[in-house]
Amino acid sequence: MKNVYFFGEGHADGNAQMKDILGGKGANLAEMTNLGIPVPPGFTISAKLCLRYVEEQKLPEEVLDEIRETMKSLEKAVSRKFGDEKDPLLVSVRSGAKISMPGMMDTVLNLGLNNKSVEGLAKQSGNPRFAYDSYRRFIHMYGSVVKGISDAAFEHPLDALKKEKGVERDIDLEADDLKSLVASFKQTYEKETGSPFSDDPWEQLLGAVEAVFGSWNIKRAVDYRRVHKIPNDMGTAVNVQAMVFGNMGEDSGTGVVFTRDPATGENVLYGEFLLNAQGEDVVAGIRDPLPVADMKDPLPDSFKQLTDTCNLLEHHFKEMQDIEFTVERGTFYILQTRTGKRTARASLRTSVEMADEGLIDKRAAVRRVEPDQLDQLLHPMVDPKADLKILTTGLPASPGAAVGQVVFDADTAEERGMAGDTVILVRKETSPDDFHGMVAAQAILTSRGGMTSHAAVVARGMGKCCVAGAKELDVDEPNTRFSMGDTVVNENDWITLDGSTGRVILGRVPLVEPKPTEDFTKIMTWADEIRMLRVRTNADTPGDAARARDFGAEGIGLCRTEHMFFEGERIDAMREMILASDEAGRRKALAKLLPMQREDFTGIFKAMDGLPVTIRLLDPPLHEFLPHDPAELEKLAGDVGVAIEDLKRTMDSLTEANPMLGHRGCRLGISHPEITEMQSRAIFEAACDATADGVEVLPEVMVPLVGHVEELKRQGQLVRDTATTVFAEKGTEVDYLVGTMIELPRACVTADEIAEVAEFFSFGTNDLTQTVFGLSRDDAGRFLPHYVESGILKSDPFQSLDQEGVGKLVDTAVRLGRETKPDLKLGICGEHGGDPASIHFFHNVGLAYVSCSPFRVPIARLAAAHATIDDQK
Ligand code: ADP
Ligand code: MG
Ligand code: MG
Repeated sequence: MKNVYFFGEGHADGNAQMKDILGGKGANLAEMTNLGIPVPPGFTISAKLCLRYVEEQKLPEEVLDEIRETMKSLEKAVSRKFGDEKDPLLVSVRSGAKISMPGMMDTVLNLGLNNKSVEGLAKQSGNPRFAYDSYRRFIHMYGSVVKGISDAAFEHPLDALKKEKGVERDIDLEADDLKSLVASFKQTYEKETGSPFSDDPWEQLLGAVEAVFGSWNIKRAVDYRRVHKIPNDMGTAVNVQAMVFGNMGEDSGTGVVFTRDPATGENVLYGEFLLNAQGEDVVAGIRDPLPVADMKDPLPDSFKQLTDTCNLLEHHFKEMQDIEFTVERGTFYILQTRTGKRTARASLRTSVEMADEGLIDKRAAVRRVEPDQLDQLLHPMVDPKADLKILTTGLPASPGAAVGQVVFDADTAEERGMAGDTVILVRKETSPDDFHGMVAAQAILTSRGGMTSHAAVVARGMGKCCVAGAKELDVDEPNTRFSMGDTVVNENDWITLDGSTGRVILGRVPLVEPKPTEDFTKIMTWADEIRMLRVRTNADTPGDAARARDFGAEGIGLCRTEHMFFEGERIDAMREMILASDEAGRRKALAKLLPMQREDFTGIFKAMDGLPVTIRLLDPPLHEFLPHDPAELEKLAGDVGVAIEDLKRTMDSLTEANPMLGHRGCRLGISHPEITEMQSRAIFEAACDATADGVEVLPEVMVPLVGHVEELKRQGQLVRDTATTVFAEKGTEVDYLVGTMIELPRACVTADEIAEVAEFFSFGTNDLTQTVFGLSRDDAGRFLPHYVESGILKSDPFQSLDQEGVGKLVDTAVRLGRETKPDLKLGICGEHGGDPASIHFFHNVGLAYVSCSPFRVPIARLAAAHATIDDQK
């Protein structure tokens, strides 16, 4: 089996299709080499070796042989020898997994230098400053990446030296300064590791290769994979590549460019570059980078090559590219290309425009927009009418707006975030070590760095609001405060960030909902043409229903009637009903509730004119409607005229050890048929009234928590009898369905029997997940997160459907139900109805619709289209 893949001299062993083996970076380096693009030659060590290395902590001998062998091809390609003292071949060692994980695993540059070859490099280049600059960078990177020495250990001597020399920028240091820095870095290295810095290039190389493989399992990489749902068993490849130098003087430089604007999607070259700089200088925010257009003057030929190559790559990959380049003494090189990460807005715009340009078709355009990304667009923005105390304006690094309390380190952000607080993480700049805090924060604010800084890239990837490079802010992390002129903002003070404009605002500003853009509407229309699943919404009020309809909901999949009972005089009537000692008393109280329910339903039917509305009968246990506070209890006893002791006795009798599995769902209607009767009456009276007003009504009455067919038979009969009575009274008839929520395992396995009496099934996957796992969601907080973190479960089963367990029961119920009734209507109304991965599953088992919260409706529409596209592939 081949482990090492060469690329260079116009041909490569690999290509873009081989990402499993070569990782994204390696596969694209190979592809670009094959396209004749100037890429420094090198080789890629297979990602297949990564997990093996992690386990054995040692590379197999045959792999080492292969590396030595391939190094010879590399030496030939650049006419230099690895380890040569006069004219050394230097390499970079870079990680790269199949899915790009920016900033997650670090690169070592200038590898192969030692005390002798640095002299050779100085002579050969005629530039001692450059040679020692490269060497000190190498020791620093090797020390921190391979040996885990803190960056500060190297940054302090560098800062001290700059101060001593009275210079501000690294590039103002001279060769001798850098030479002394090399000596001091080596001391640091030896002090920290206990052994001297190796002069043997092969030892350096193997150390770096192993560090890359090993870095697959460092905390920040594991954290990143967890958040982005990237599998842990993929591994990273290692790229070893001949160095090219952007730090050779003013005719050299390095930069990062996107083929389209990653914030707006506009079709313009967008990026930053630095003259006389190397590697990550641009993203690290060490000097302020220049806009890429400014490269035209100092490096006109390279700029033309850059624009031509960008065009070529975009047409070749038919995707917006994120490209790294370096110019060495006027010679242009590409070091990386990959699909550019972008905001939701940019994703929509680039997809729509590429389809309009004919580069891709509509399906590809739809497939490209990630459903979860839409969330950003549906998210709030700063109220344009609000009165703002703007502190300063930084770079609009990632759009959206956020309000939160200020914190200054990632651990605090994580702690507070987990506790449910809304916090904004403020840092001078962020590094991969801050990742867990960025996940927990509402938004990120930095005082340094550009649009391609770590904070900006990571925030955009997560769809999180970020303002970067707010230079005027003086961030004082040790003292947990930042200031802007005279204004001091302390830890826990509230601020508002506007990631779309870069504004940093004092205090809590009201946020408002955004309006959909043209691109958004276009993609959604295309998605609707493609998808098979219908998308309904879970809505309990006419207002929610109307909003969901604006988002494209095609009906209500779940209207929870109990929510209507909690407000004002309704809760009084409800309590009166619960506390009544006999049926007559209950009926009297229910009679008060009837007109209110009827009014709610009429409103909802009107909002959903022409669309189906599924109404669920009362579901929660009755004690949820009673107060617990003693003063309120006292008052209640007075209001309904019962003795406080009697009230307490009733309360006790309603208390359950395990309410989730207690007297709830259809069990309530079985014990108290008058409740079902009242609710059905309200539904059908509202249906008749609305019809009389010219509204097209399609009610579906849903009986909850059915486990035995007999329960549905009896409750269903009651509903139908009530309908007949109401229709006779009103002198009209309305078409309706009676069905059930499938949310108990017993219902799933007896679905063939239940289908005899049900006209539809709607899977209640929240309760189904609880009952299949035998755990209550309210108590799961103590252990479930650990299950997910430690990998027992792939993800939280309440967020993404457990397809192997809960899904199997859904599948069983679908099959059994259809055996009895081929035209049975099937849908799902649990929270999983808005989760893209779960939606794929529901498409595959053949449901007719999903139902989710109003804000997730567009996400579900898009995910449903993706499911169809993937299915037809
Ligand atoms: P990341 O995955 O974080 O982008 P990279 O491996 O791309 O890490 O490298 C980090 C930086 O080093 C980039 O700016 C890249 O352009 C630069 N770099 C990597 N290899 C070389 C090389 N052979 N010559 C010059 N610069 C390089
Ligand atoms: Mg990096
Ligand atoms: Mg890179």
